[in-house]
Amino acid sequence: MNYPAIKITFLGTGTSGGVPMIACGCHVCTSPDEKDKRFRSSILVQSDTTTLIVDTTPDFRSQMLRANVKKLDAVIFTHPHKDHIAGLDDIKAFNFFQQKPMDIYANEITQEGLKREFAYIFADKKYPGIPSVNMHTISDETFMVGDIPVTPILVHHLKLPVLAFRFGKFTYITDANRIDEQEKQKIIGANTIVINALRKKSHISHFTLQEAIDLSNELKIPNAYFTHISHQLGTHEEINKELSPGRQLAWDGLQLVFDSFSN
Ligand SMILES: [Zn+2]
Ligand SMILES: [Zn+2]
Ligand SMILES: [Zn+2]
Repeated sequence: MNYPAIKITFLGTGTSGGVPMIACGCHVCTSPDEKDKRFRSSILVQSDTTTLIVDTTPDFRSQMLRANVKKLDAVIFTHPHKDHIAGLDDIKAFNFFQQKPMDIYANEITQEGLKREFAYIFADKKYPGIPSVNMHTISDETFMVGDIPVTPILVHHLKLPVLAFRFGKFTYITDANRIDEQEKQKIIGANTIVINALRKKSHISHFTLQEAIDLSNELKIPNAYFTHISHQLGTHEEINKELSPGRQLAWDGLQLVFDSFSN
């Protein structure tokens, strides 16, 4: 398969409440460091010809404006929690300028959630100006979005199945606290991994920072970035100082570039 050169942009790296969290006066939420301002978790994936995003967060509109995204070919969804789907309504701007429905990719559980949360988008009788989508069902097979091959990886978020995605040498895992052994095989050989790391204290459905570090080490991935971060973790600067080379917190606006290759 041919993998094009891609650029990844982190559109958001915060947990469901974002950082700063509304009404919180803690030292992270009041930090002046721009890296302590985290929209909800999402990434932009771009080749020369194709632009896709993973998830439409409640911050989707602000994320598109901040990253100056003028064209969007597809949205790929990880799971139906509100912090990953809430911004879907705002794809109507791309519908307007691109004059076509947005291609969206989701598994069955996420499709049920989207139809429940955005019933008007999927209604038989639609009122004018609402978002228009073209739904694609994700199986466990690699699929193409334009020239970008996308490999789904099944991970577990307590009991909810969530999709992680591998894009060539890059793997993105949000909202998980467990991965089955056979799915780990799909990640091995990646050069860079992103893993959710909510905080240091254990959590019922998210990896802790240490669990995320341990997973990146177990899989022998040279570069790991942590995302879906809570204000409870600490500031970007104080936590990054504790981490080993090749392991660091992601931040909003971080960009990573990967060369093309074939295998
Ligand atoms: Zn989440
Ligand atoms: Zn706080
Ligand atoms: Zn979730």
